[in-house]
Amino acid sequence: MSDDLQPDTPSRLRRSTLSIHGGRAHGAPGDAVVQPLVQSVNHVQPVGTPEGVLYTRYANTPNATLVQRRLALLEGAEASLVLSSGMGATACTMLALLRPGDHLITSAWIYGGTRKLFDVELPAMGVTVTTVDPTESRAWRRALTRNTRVIFVESPVNPTTRVLDLRPLSALAQETGLALVVDSTFASPVNFRPLEHGADVVIQSATKYLNGHHDILAGVVCGTESVVDEVRQKMMVWGQAPDPFALWLLERGLKTLDVRVKRQNESAQRVAEWATQHPAIARVHYPGLPSHPDHALAREVLDGFGGMLALELAGGGEATAPVLERLRLITHAPSLGGVDSLVSEPRYTSHAAMTADARAAIGIPDGFLRFSIGLEDADDLIDDLAQALG
Ligand SMILES: *Cc1c(COP(=O)(O)O)cnc(C)c1O
Repeated sequence: MSDDLQPDTPSRLRRSTLSIHGGRAHGAPGDAVVQPLVQSVNHVQPVGTPEGVLYTRYANTPNATLVQRRLALLEGAEASLVLSSGMGATACTMLALLRPGDHLITSAWIYGGTRKLFDVELPAMGVTVTTVDPTESRAWRRALTRNTRVIFVESPVNPTTRVLDLRPLSALAQETGLALVVDSTFASPVNFRPLEHGADVVIQSATKYLNGHHDILAGVVCGTESVVDEVRQKMMVWGQAPDPFALWLLERGLKTLDVRVKRQNESAQRVAEWATQHPAIARVHYPGLPSHPDHALAREVLDGFGGMLALELAGGGEATAPVLERLRLITHAPSLGGVDSLVSEPRYTSHAAMTADARAAIGIPDGFLRFSIGLEDADDLIDDLAQALG
């Protein structure tokens, strides 16, 4: 049966092909073209051996193994593991890499949930955390202690779309034997593959671009077999495995990843360029604009500038509500990376726990709106923004 087919897909296939066929052999007459959903949690076990125990919480049932092979191929990794959310992926990766007494160095520019994990949960487990301004290139080395085990960064950065240079961090990690962990949710492997730039572990919220349809929660960790296996051990006991149906939907979503992200790159570039001309907009944040502080780096390391952009309204914090109320197509909702265009205000979502001053210090002043450009016609999105801005 097709779900028993071996992972013989050649990894030299191009990414758009891998996103459809990666990890699944060419079918024989009678095979289902689409990988069947096997919702069963337990599977018949061979007698007289500890081998061959298939159980959904172990991430080794058919829909898990296929999508994990495919994601590893897309990311250029030896192995991958899919967990029940992006936060589950980050939390289990930290549980696998850090012990009480260990030290983590993190970029200051990270997702709000990750911030809480590092500020509250890891210290409660005896892990110390140092936060570094990623623009201060020497700060990483200064933060090193004898107990440092992990450097964590996010790139491109939520919600400012800043892009970090991994090369100096990778050199530092190699020199000192640390693990460089990168959350590249904003890019997806279509636009950025951190392993090619020296990262050891890549984390993605698969809730976002990888699935792309706003209908599942999942996270993925990519790296060597050995590190992925350590994360799997944590996932099994902390109970962070996804449901087969979510895995099946993720695999279906991946089939269109390449076309979706390329179209989102194009539309976001058009919306960003249009927005630079609008008098109600004080500033546009998009790595594809020459005015972006990391434009040159983004051209070098990214294959596409992404579907995420941010607009700062000239009217500041008071101007956002009327604009959001007037939008008719772009939906005011958290999350990102799907087919529907979304807008959110980080001061009420990902960065709600910070003070206005602290947010402004990391580039998110009041009046800042984050847009996730979907698959609607870019002209319709521009018309919607134009009428809402008045
Ligand atoms: C959404 C997000 C996460 C968390 O993912 P969930 O699937 O919501 O748990 C982590 N990092 C980034 C950059 C995100 O955008």
